[in-house]
Formats: sequence, C-alpha cells, structure tokens
Amino acid sequence: MQESDCIFCMIASGAIPSYKVASNETSISFLDINPIARGHILVIPRKHFSGLDDVDHEAFAGTMELALRITRSISGGRFSEGTNLFVSNGEAADQTVKHLHVHIVPRNSDDNLQWNSWWLSKVKQYSEGEMADTLELIRKCME
Ligand code: 5GP
Ligand code: ZN
Repeated sequence: MQESDCIFCMIASGAIPSYKVASNETSISFLDINPIARGHILVIPRKHFSGLDDVDHEAFAGTMELALRITRSISGGRFSEGTNLFVSNGEAADQTVKHLHVHIVPRNSDDNLQWNSWWLSKVKQYSEGEMADTLELIRKCME
C-alpha cells in the first residue's frame, strides 16, 4: 500500500478529519469511526507501518506509551470502569486498515459487549503432548 492511499496517514497529516484524543512525539489517537463502545479509540504511529511486522521500536514504544496514558486516564471510573486494548495484526487476524493501530475499548460491567462469553465459547482443549509440541514450535520460531 502507498502511504498516500492510507486513510490513517491522511488522518495523521490532517488531510482528513478525525476526533483527536491526545498525541505524543511519535503517535496520535482519535475516535474510531465505527465504535464498538462509546469512546472506542485508535492509537497509531504518525509514520506509516503496516503492522507489528515492520514497525520500528521507537514508534511502537511511543504508540504503546500513548495507549497506556489514555487507558490510565479514562479507566477506573473516570470515563469507563476498565478497557480492552488490542492490535489486529495481519489479514488472518482481521486487520482491515494496513497502518498499525492499537484499539482502546472502554468497558463497563453493564455494557453487554459479551466479550467474555464469546471468549469462553472459543476455548479449546489440548492434551499435554499437544501443549508440548506447540511450545516446541513456538520456541523454534524464536531461535
Ligand atoms: P482493524 O479491523 O484494522 O483492527 O480496525 C480498523 C478500525 O479503523 C475499525 O475499527 C474502523 O472502524 C476504523 N476506521 C476505518 N476507517 C476509519 C476512518 O476513516 N476514521 C476513523 N476514525 N476510523 C476508521
Ligand atoms: Zn499509513
């Protein structure tokens, strides 16, 4: 993808409008246009990186630092009781905008998002052998 075609690069440059939340040297944040909860925020590096595979450490650290500042500011009852933070990395992970972004979803005990029941409905059982094989595969990836 060309950076000139990237919707989040256009938001970062101000070429298209957004509801800006806060920013730091490396990163900006703004309200998601299709929020799954009130106050759903996206935090992105100012520079274009498609995702976790190509982001540099400085941009990632700055993006996470801003996400941490926002979540600490809004949670604990100031705006919401809690938050979920997540990154969709790659098409298989349902990433739709190919500019790295961290979702911050404000959460309240009565918000009926049913995140936990969805999660529990996906829980799988693996044998001890399968767990050991899985661990070996992941550790090999990290060599
Ligand atoms: P993904 O599915 O890639 O993890 O999330 C992309 C997010 O970007 C979606 O939640 C979507 O609503 C949001 N989004 C897509 N286009 C725009 C836009 O033009 N402005 C804003 N503020 N959010 C957008
Ligand atoms: Zn971009």
